[in-house]
Amino acid sequence: MDISLYSDESIYSIYGRVAFYSGEFKKRIENLKSIIDYPFKSVKNPDGSSLNQKVDATYLLERHSSYPYYSQFMLNDEEREQMKKSFLEGSSLKIDHLTGHFKSKSNMRLCPLCLVQDSNTYGEPYWHRSHQLPGSIVCDIHNVLLLSECPKCSEPLTPSSYHLPLITPLFCSQGHCMKHVIPNADEDLLTLATNNRYLLESEEKIDLLKIREKMTTIFLGEGIINEKSYYRIQLNQKVNERFNDTFLNKLGSSKDIMRIHLFWKVRKDLDPLFYILLMIYFSGSVTKFLEQEFEYAPFGKGPWKCLNRVCRYYEKRVIKSIDISFIKGGRPWALFCCNECGCKYEWFSYDRIAFIIEPGPLWLSECEELLQNREVTFNEMEILFTQDFMKKMLEYRPISLEHFISKCFSKQTKEKYFDMFEQKE
Ligand SMILES: [Zn+2]
Ligand SMILES: [Zn+2]
Ligand SMILES: [Zn+2]
Repeated sequence: MDISLYSDESIYSIYGRVAFYSGEFKKRIENLKSIIDYPFKSVKNPDGSSLNQKVDATYLLERHSSYPYYSQFMLNDEEREQMKKSFLEGSSLKIDHLTGHFKSKSNMRLCPLCLVQDSNTYGEPYWHRSHQLPGSIVCDIHNVLLLSECPKCSEPLTPSSYHLPLITPLFCSQGHCMKHVIPNADEDLLTLATNNRYLLESEEKIDLLKIREKMTTIFLGEGIINEKSYYRIQLNQKVNERFNDTFLNKLGSSKDIMRIHLFWKVRKDLDPLFYILLMIYFSGSVTKFLEQEFEYAPFGKGPWKCLNRVCRYYEKRVIKSIDISFIKGGRPWALFCCNECGCKYEWFSYDRIAFIIEPGPLWLSECEELLQNREVTFNEMEILFTQDFMKKMLEYRPISLEHFISKCFSKQTKEKYFDMFEQKE
């Protein structure tokens, strides 16, 4: 008999239905070829229109397996082709591989509302490939939790003891109904399922190298790429606050998959979920992340402020360019120089305080002038030139006791500078 292929139907489901209706496939089929020989009646586009296309192995791989999703995470087209070839020609091709169960032997999942909808539309339910993607535990169309076992007796929908693929059940073996709707309240679960579908169905392939490049830019800015693990741990903690252990456990993952390492590890170690969740973390969604430009700006965007209080450009953004270099440990360091007053300061990223390393001629002359002015107190001068600088100034420019006292506004100031003053006398 002929059977129709449904939109978003997984190969597992097609096998299951063929086995169910025909009684063929006495043992588990190990390659795509055997299903190709089966006479399919019609092929539908996702929009329901019929498609005059020959059902061949490539078609099944592209339209009815999770291959397009996983192929997104290959580094280039060459790798994609290799992956495709190994699926099409591999001798030990397993149905699990085609349905997306590359690693886990987890159960097939179904949406109780798609189940009803498909039954009404086609007369029978089927397994959706989009529901089997890693981390997809809600239906992105209905926003309800997917089922992988009977909601009443916990019988798995696809017990591993079965060697033949199973059709989508409306009831478990005990007769419990699968139409058991649990609304989803976790927005991140829905976002993840929506993004997973996008990656599955998108004609355009994402550029993993570009994504890594962008993430590197972010990590550099956050101090993540650094021989000290401190900043990396911080980001890992921040990410883990949102995608915590409970969340990752729900997805069937552990928090290890989200751990950011020093540099990009061998791809095999990384799960698509690592990239997808990080993209959601940084930009809200995969597409937004792909559109967004990230600039390496550990010191923020210029121009930067002059920090010299006696400069007429104090607190004004007049420093147009800075020299960024990396000190030991990979921390970014920058030198800022105001062209107007010649004041130079340095700033280590992640430290809040900038250090004046060269006050510049304006600062020095103003300070000298105010030092000679008996009307101006040390307190006032400290505000303008910092306490540390005033101490140094007094070491090199001793003034008379009478002059000193006149500049002391308070008893505390007098005490603070007096030791130094006495030594000089
Ligand atoms: Zn659904
Ligand atoms: Zn049951
Ligand atoms: Zn200045």
